[in-house]
Amino acid sequence: MVIESGQTMTEDEQLQRMRHSVAHVMAGAVLSIFPDAKFGIGPAIENGFYYDFELPRSLNPDDLPLIEARMAEIIAANVPFVKQEVDKQEARRLFADQPYKLELIDEIPDEKVSFYRQGSFVDLCRGPHVGSTGEIGPFKLVGIAGAYWRGDEHRPMLQRIYGVAFETKEALVAHLKKLEAAASSDHRKLGRELDLFSIHEEAGPGLVHWHPKGAAIRRVIEDFWKDEHTKRGYDIVYTPHLAKLDLWKASGHWEFYRDYLYSPMEVEGQEYIVKPMNCLGHILIYKTKLRSYRELPLRYAELGTVYRYERSGVLHGLSRVRGFTQDDAHIFCRFDQLEDEVVGVLDLARFMVDTFGFTNYQMLLSTRPEKYAGTIQVWEEAIKTLSQALARLEFAYDIDPGEGVFYGPKIDIKFKDALGRGWQGPTIQVDFNLPQRFNVTYIGEDGQEHLVAMVHRTVLGSMERFLASLIEHYGGAFPVWLAPVQVVVIPVADRHLDYAYKLEAELKSEGVRIRVDARSERVNLKIRQAQLDKIPYMLVVGDKEVASSTVSVRLRSVEQLSSLSLESFKETISRVIVNRVKDLKL
Ligand SMILES: [Zn+2]
Ligand SMILES: [Zn+2]
Repeated sequence: MVIESGQTMTEDEQLQRMRHSVAHVMAGAVLSIFPDAKFGIGPAIENGFYYDFELPRSLNPDDLPLIEARMAEIIAANVPFVKQEVDKQEARRLFADQPYKLELIDEIPDEKVSFYRQGSFVDLCRGPHVGSTGEIGPFKLVGIAGAYWRGDEHRPMLQRIYGVAFETKEALVAHLKKLEAAASSDHRKLGRELDLFSIHEEAGPGLVHWHPKGAAIRRVIEDFWKDEHTKRGYDIVYTPHLAKLDLWKASGHWEFYRDYLYSPMEVEGQEYIVKPMNCLGHILIYKTKLRSYRELPLRYAELGTVYRYERSGVLHGLSRVRGFTQDDAHIFCRFDQLEDEVVGVLDLARFMVDTFGFTNYQMLLSTRPEKYAGTIQVWEEAIKTLSQALARLEFAYDIDPGEGVFYGPKIDIKFKDALGRGWQGPTIQVDFNLPQRFNVTYIGEDGQEHLVAMVHRTVLGSMERFLASLIEHYGGAFPVWLAPVQVVVIPVADRHLDYAYKLEAELKSEGVRIRVDARSERVNLKIRQAQLDKIPYMLVVGDKEVASSTVSVRLRSVEQLSSLSLESFKETISRVIVNRVKDLKL
């Protein structure tokens, strides 16, 4: 776990203790409202706490203020948290009407069981807690959700109440503001409002339809991605969406990832599946020739669409889907080239993440899990190579012990958006499994056949998840180079329409995404609409602009810039787009 800077472990522990104590208080409040409530668990979590309950009816948001009011009473009464220990038999008697607690008691290895009492409420608990309810800081209940008992979909669905709690009122208010901002920048909400994408029950959950505006952003990202990869020595390839099941059996995917694969379909007596990964196609391309050490490294890049089965309960907008396009690439190299290749990928990943405006990220190096392919020796060498690559670029990183995939160690980069939320970004994985299974080799300087070192990597993740993070990072107000519509021309009256269309044609020919708002509405209303659409530039044109061949520029913040000649606006916006400038000021 990463401790935020400036926060010592003890303060963190105190905060956890207080948050967990609020959970007990909430449970006591719920019991006083629902005497038949059954209790699950109620831990402290980041920023707050939750508690799971089985209740006679579904909770609704109106219940939260009532529960909060009861909690405030318990806190005002300043009752102590009293710890007691009993043997298991006594504990079973105490919690006889609490089936979930009984299940937990059965799993406690010790003979003694501890519980905490505050007022009339008793909870099975190891503690620790604050001394009394009066020590509890400012809190707020923020949401209700369904949660399976022990996360198991075959067990009962309980009702979970989430709350947040902080040491000071200021910290609580700041956090609530952040939650509000997060809700208003939710990519599902903005995706609908900005007409970027949709998901249809008729077509199936988790399958994304990109509307013209979302597709415009995607195309800019894809073009940029392809150009940058070509510059850095990658070859772009395309591979099919279907392949014979036998191929996926040979790779081990059928064995290891079967839960995520779609059922086979039969074609002319052969079974095929839709691809869950792009790796095998690239291996087949590599293996069409005998490769010499002189040819390596070979870097095959593909914006490859893959399909993986995810339970409908975990699907979430663009960030958890069933079909997605990975910005994928596979590097085939010699082991002595591996470090340089990893440095190359890390440098590219940093460049991409920076260009898209994410300045905050965390690197994780994941090491050998319990089940692994290859030998301990190759694992250790590869981990050394990865850490040397990180050191060469002076990247700070954390070790995630045992979290590598079975086929090799990996580096994950998680970037943070404007609201401090983490997103899974680039990943770089070394693979000891596939080269062996498919005998992916090259002829060395010694004339002998050697296995290649194979690297899987993405630098954005997937187009879908990356768009989700971009939308939320920018709250839908994309930088000019990414904005689906970059300029809207707003004629003051119908007599200015000709001039507006002339502007549109000229800027379009420069590659600017521009449209004219030709509706016969008031100028202010059109400006308001452009603002809602988060269009970076509005060109308001009336008599003065027509007469002098100028444009009057407004930003989506409605800040008015000075008038510019058409020529100088054209030149400036082209420069802003080409250089991927983040600031709108011309
Ligand atoms: Zn407790
Ligand atoms: Zn791969």
